[in-house]
Amino acid sequence: MKKALQSRFRLFLIMVFMAVQQLLTAQELTRVEPPFWWTGMEHSELQLMVYGKNISVLRPVIEYPGVTLKETILVENPNYLFLNLVIEKETLPGTFLIQFDNEKRNEISYSFELFERKSGSSQRKGFSSSDVIYLLMPDRFANGDVSNDDMPGMIDKADRNNPNGRHGGDLKGIRDNLDYFADLGVTALWINPVFEANVPKPSYHGYSITNFYRIDPRFGTNDEYRQLSEEAGKKGIMIVKDMVFNHFGINHWWMKDLPMKDWLNQWPEYTRSNFRAGTIMDPYASDADRDRMLKGWFDTMMADLNQKNSFVANYLIQNSVWWVEYADLGGIRMDTYPYSDKDFMAKWMNYIRSEYPDFSVVGEAWLNTTPQVSYWMESNRNADGFNSNLNFVFDFPLKYAINSAFNEDNGWSSGAAKLYETISFDFLYSHPSQIVTFADNHDADRLYSVLGKDFNKFKMAIVFLMTTRGIPQIYYGTELLMTGWEHDGHGFIREDFPGGWEGDTANAFISEGLTTEQKDAWDFMRMLLNWRKDKQVIHQGQLKHYIPEEGVYVYFRYDEDESVMVVINNNKESRTFRTDRFAESLKGYSTGTDILHRTNFDQLKMISIPAMSARIIELKK
Ligand code: CA
Repeated sequence: MKKALQSRFRLFLIMVFMAVQQLLTAQELTRVEPPFWWTGMEHSELQLMVYGKNISVLRPVIEYPGVTLKETILVENPNYLFLNLVIEKETLPGTFLIQFDNEKRNEISYSFELFERKSGSSQRKGFSSSDVIYLLMPDRFANGDVSNDDMPGMIDKADRNNPNGRHGGDLKGIRDNLDYFADLGVTALWINPVFEANVPKPSYHGYSITNFYRIDPRFGTNDEYRQLSEEAGKKGIMIVKDMVFNHFGINHWWMKDLPMKDWLNQWPEYTRSNFRAGTIMDPYASDADRDRMLKGWFDTMMADLNQKNSFVANYLIQNSVWWVEYADLGGIRMDTYPYSDKDFMAKWMNYIRSEYPDFSVVGEAWLNTTPQVSYWMESNRNADGFNSNLNFVFDFPLKYAINSAFNEDNGWSSGAAKLYETISFDFLYSHPSQIVTFADNHDADRLYSVLGKDFNKFKMAIVFLMTTRGIPQIYYGTELLMTGWEHDGHGFIREDFPGGWEGDTANAFISEGLTTEQKDAWDFMRMLLNWRKDKQVIHQGQLKHYIPEEGVYVYFRYDEDESVMVVINNNKESRTFRTDRFAESLKGYSTGTDILHRTNFDQLKMISIPAMSARIIELKK
């Protein structure tokens, strides 16, 4: 009896031991990223990140015509596998199983889908100088679906009374109002990041991404994002996706179980970036300063990705391509451009442009001077030989010029001369027309505040933005004279768009409850944007400008067939001037029409212009 008990107990122990053993070595499959892909891509290589408990003890097998599993890579963390696939050009779309085998039997499998690439995908045209880009912050634009304001599992809850809280805006709010943009004359929408950003307050701005393959459920679903892009496309509006390669939200699932120690740049204690982007090009910069700039964290909630790690690099490159294909994007706006490893960024751009030769990417190289910004433009003549391959940059120097020129007295290099002089630095750019111009954005004082709420100054600034070289970008609400200072807090330059919320006292979508001045501003911009839309001479024409005299800045946009004369009078008095000194630009033209005031000039020898105003004169032969 005792023996039988003993042997039973022994059996029990063995069973417990086996169960524990099973538990320790049990394998799970949690994620495969990218979750699916396409056939017919230019690049045949694809690297899958496979995540799951102890997944690395299993041996993956793929059997599908045209697809080869070239390499299975084990890394420091046994919960990850990286699979290098080759997908031949001729591979047919379809689904195959990635089987994760142990010695005995198939343990786990993942059904991987290869979709057929949309025809013409590789020839997609990105934004260009014929476009006007409208930047909006999705949480602050329109709340199209109140049921997603709070979502299970998402930490930061809706709190519209808090400037730093989530206000409930979403993709549906944007989709419901596509006619608003089309009417205004906008042809591209840059929407601040819409990836899942499941971090504590402030999460609304979207820059702390916690899942690179998922739209934040408080904005909508991946499918809704795709639908938004499709419907916008039908109205002649492309979507420009805001992406971030420099950092990601600390609540990303990676942070609980990093693939490898150097997945991100880690410091013994929290170390912030010095935000001195100039150190990247500064020939005298110390390694310490440059290191701190590149590897310091952007914020306590934003971990700094190490793009020098080739697995991180592949992950980011593929993620961006995935979104271009999936959502049929018209462009990418890349955040904090100089903060990422520049050689990786150049490699990424090269990859993007070999996959989509006519695609457009604009990089946020937030630097104050033209020499610094020009460094980041493709094929620039950089002393260190660096070529970014980046086809568009933001014109920060011109933004600062626009912000101050109209508030200054006119001097040698102040007032109107500031616009003139800033543009004159274009010799530093390899492609001066490949620049996105703007007067304000989500990080800056709102234009109308900067201009002291002066409607005349506002109109001059907008005329300049819409007629000088480059691609104009406007910030949501600028067309309604929204105000706000950055030093009051970001929430105050990102206020809710009027009419986006049920019960709003003003509604810009139906032009109700707006002041006369707001309506005038809207009409003014609508007229100008729609005029610009068909003006090839503004899109692609040459620019010739003349030294401002007495605060009057005159420039011409011209090609072989057409010429447009722009006159900006930055004076508190009206001006009348002879046009002799513009003879080389006026040659062959005798009359003109001012499209802003709908007035005709039956001669061009003498032009008068009211105080603090602009004229756009279409010249006639
Ligand atoms: Ca909502």
